[in-house]
Amino acid sequence: MQNNSVVLGDLIGTGKKLEIGCFKCRLHIYIAPECLTVSPATPLPCIAALLRCPQCHSINQEAGYPIWVRPDARPPRMGANSIQVGL
Ligand SMILES: [Zn+2]
Repeated sequence: MQNNSVVLGDLIGTGKKLEIGCFKCRLHIYIAPECLTVSPATPLPCIAALLRCPQCHSINQEAGYPIWVRPDARPPRMGANSIQVGL
């Protein structure tokens, strides 16, 4: 079973975040893939179908698909200046 879909498990452990957006309310957030309680084998497009926008509570349904999910497109560790170290 091979396809080009990125699955959640591909991101876990890489330090990459999941980018989630909502066209309806223009929400745009990054979350750690570990925070989701779905199977690591779940393809990202399917995850969008499972999510509810935390801001406007939209969901993807027949009337529209406002929620989108993709791997964090920001380049990892692009210069120390852009990284904030906590503590
Ligand atoms: Zn929304």
